[in-house]
Amino acid sequence: MKTIIKKVDKNQIDEDVIQEAGEILKRGGLVAFPTETVYGLGANALDEEAAKRTYAAKGRPSDNPLIVHIADVQALDEIAVNIPAATEELAFHFWPGPLTMIFEKSNIVPMGTTGGLETVAVRMPSDLIARELILAAGGYVSAPSANTSGRPSPTTAQHVAEDLEGKIDMILDGGSVDIGLESTILDMTVTPPMILRPGAITAGMLEEVIGAVSVDETILGSESTQAPKAPGMKYRHYAPRARLMIVEGTLREEVLAIRQLAYEAHRKG
Ligand code: AMP
Ligand code: MG
Repeated sequence: MKTIIKKVDKNQIDEDVIQEAGEILKRGGLVAFPTETVYGLGANALDEEAAKRTYAAKGRPSDNPLIVHIADVQALDEIAVNIPAATEELAFHFWPGPLTMIFEKSNIVPMGTTGGLETVAVRMPSDLIARELILAAGGYVSAPSANTSGRPSPTTAQHVAEDLEGKIDMILDGGSVDIGLESTILDMTVTPPMILRPGAITAGMLEEVIGAVSVDETILGSESTQAPKAPGMKYRHYAPRARLMIVEGTLREEVLAIRQLAYEAHRKG
């Protein structure tokens, strides 16, 4: 397969390139694109076959579910059911941004995307190229990191090409995207909501908005013999070399600092 590689300038997004990439996704193809965390390997999240292609290209175990990326809050109602009330507040504060929430899935989400689970993980990225691409693709794009399983998550289009050229349809080169941390995963199907994977949005930030949250004990390094509730946490796959930033201030200041970091990383690229 010949991989099309196209540059996209975040400050002046070429609509033709985005449309071309969106069409590829609609047809079931794979397109790598920047998000504020790492480069994602995009596929139509509502297409079972596209999910299979994602696992094949990455060499990723297919019991490791994909996160569905959306570009507007309304899209959530189509793919999730029994959405708890606290979701609205969380989305208001942290979307777009590095918070993934887990809900009971609706029928339109195939088991291929969720790794066989009845729940679906959803996130709204803040990266502008990502958002435009999601809309051009029909609104629902699964996007694990655009690397083969076991390799570091890619922060530039060059890294993606070195790893996946010839295995995927297209790469959108939006420069370097190094926020340095994956999204926080919060399970909204339990009360109180439970952090399944720590990330850029901390427990304290979540608690400021919705009160108590719990943390999956198996990820705290205790002697638990249970499997982690987020299937991917059992694999070693994420070893970031990142800038550490400590922000003291209000919740709003913390959220803005994370966005600023993502923005600066884009400008650098
Ligand atoms: P990423 O590797 O950043 O694309 O994140 C995918 C990870 O999200 C998976 O490895 C799982 O750990 C977690 N995840 C996705 N969907 C679910 C779900 N429905 N339930 C629990 N964890 C999930
Ligand atoms: Mg990954």
